[in-house]
Amino acid sequence: MTKAEGTGIRTLAVIGSGTMGNGIAHVAALSGLQVKLVDVSADALERALATIGKNLDRQVKKEQVTESAKAEALARISTHTDRAAAVSDVDLAIEAVPEIAELKYEIFADLDAHAPEGAILASNTSSISITEIAARTSRPEKVIGMHFMNPVPVMQLVEVIRGLATDDATTHAVVALSEAMGKTPVEVNDFPGFVSNRVLMPMINEAIFAVMEGVAEPEAIDTVMKLGMNHPMGPLALADLIGLDTCLNILEVLHRELGDDRYRPCPLLRKYVAAGWLGRKSGRGFHVYSR
Ligand code: NAD
Repeated sequence: MTKAEGTGIRTLAVIGSGTMGNGIAHVAALSGLQVKLVDVSADALERALATIGKNLDRQVKKEQVTESAKAEALARISTHTDRAAAVSDVDLAIEAVPEIAELKYEIFADLDAHAPEGAILASNTSSISITEIAARTSRPEKVIGMHFMNPVPVMQLVEVIRGLATDDATTHAVVALSEAMGKTPVEVNDFPGFVSNRVLMPMINEAIFAVMEGVAEPEAIDTVMKLGMNHPMGPLALADLIGLDTCLNILEVLHRELGDDRYRPCPLLRKYVAAGWLGRKSGRGFHVYSR
């Protein structure tokens, strides 16, 4: 029995196969779970499988994973565009679709209708209220935030967010599963942006204001924060990694839900997103990337 199976969770659906979804599928499959990766786009699923393969290869090269563990992990992942059918026999579904509240509400109502009665429904949301998502289901006690960090195979933290109605059994299961996946879970309460983005996004936003106001070039701002504050990467490079559209969506939630202008998204961030300059995933953000 693998560590993950010991938690009672054997089959997992990951809804959304983008930046986060493919990382969650990768780590879950390596830890022994059967993974059903679901997306509306067959192309996205194809790209996700290619990314998972490439990232596993990198781990094999670094001798973190054996060739046979890689092959077993890949064999545990199946891809699906029919969400209702895919979730019909899972123990847990983790949603990782774009950070748009209405989209998440719709998906959770649908997961509630099609996943088994006892299944846990988790969201990888960066900022949207778990309590509000849970209210769209008939099982709010089984709805929880499972907030992985990017890149999922590398980052240690899972922020575990309890909604108002989340019960202890659900929290314990998700904490145990996070540990079985080799992560360190930290429990926090449901508040806009939780801890991670409540603290991180104002810093990223301020760095973008500094670019807009001509305080310094992006490279210089990132260097100041790396060498001066000992951050492993600068705020603008981190924003590019997260995705500028995701950053904007999170700031909108913080601004709206907390009602404080200190979370007002920088106009330059809006401009970049409108231009399709989304960071690494589009090849250009505050820095330029070769793809
Ligand atoms: P992404 O844009 O890279 O991927 C989203 C995927 O969802 C796409 O493949 C898209 O085709 C798919 N999708 C859209 N609608 C769907 C639907 N109805 N059903 C199934 N799939 C659908 O986004 P991402 O960066 O992976 O972010 C996903 C979630 O994770 C967001 O809530 C985000 O806030 C959160 N998050 C992101 C990061 C990060 O650094 N990017 C970190 C932590 C949490």
